[in-house]
Amino acid sequence: MRVLVVEDEPTIAAQLAEALGTAGYVVDLAENGVDGHFQGSDENQPFDAVVLDLGLPRMDGLTVLKKWRAAGRGMPVLILTARDNWHEKVAGIDAGADDYLTKPFHMEELLARVRALIRRAGGHASAELVCGEVVLDTRYSRVTVGGQTLTLTSHEYRVLDYLMHHPGQIVSRSDLIEHIYAQDFDRDSNTVEVFIARLRKKLPEGVIETVRGLGYRLVAP
Ligand code: CA
Repeated sequence: MRVLVVEDEPTIAAQLAEALGTAGYVVDLAENGVDGHFQGSDENQPFDAVVLDLGLPRMDGLTVLKKWRAAGRGMPVLILTARDNWHEKVAGIDAGADDYLTKPFHMEELLARVRALIRRAGGHASAELVCGEVVLDTRYSRVTVGGQTLTLTSHEYRVLDYLMHHPGQIVSRSDLIEHIYAQDFDRDSNTVEVFIARLRKKLPEGVIETVRGLGYRLVAP
């Protein structure tokens, strides 16, 4: 899952990148509204969620959000607002924000809200994603098969996490590349096949189906 963080305060941006990264997300950072708007507008870089500060240099967060929504960008957006500024929250929600947090916030709460946004965008009500015997708990980035915990590398986890959020759907290799790699990462599509092959060895047979020429599909065997 790929998250864009648009935040101009370096300390908060670094804390967000660190916490989201540890939670298994690929994080892209923008430190002003113009760069944030540009990154979030790129259809080749689809974000699964955006954390958007409203007080930004060069273009304020509310304008960024309005421009995205006017252009049909529908990704979940959580806005960060100043304390006690209730009209900013109202304006943000009216502009198309899906959720908000007031600064200062607890990182755990932000992570929970981001998880919930991504879950709901995929139509999942529960924090646990289930496919047959495979259970992925988004709260702890933990995967079990028949109750046994799986040991996964961060890239294996990201691949499985994306597939578990889109069960029964065909997920192409380029979808996976876009959602599991940072922008500056060497994106070799062969490595996706390597991660899939490793995951298949750890998962029950038949869970990850290959759809010839199109990609992969998660199925409950
Ligand atoms: Ca700010």
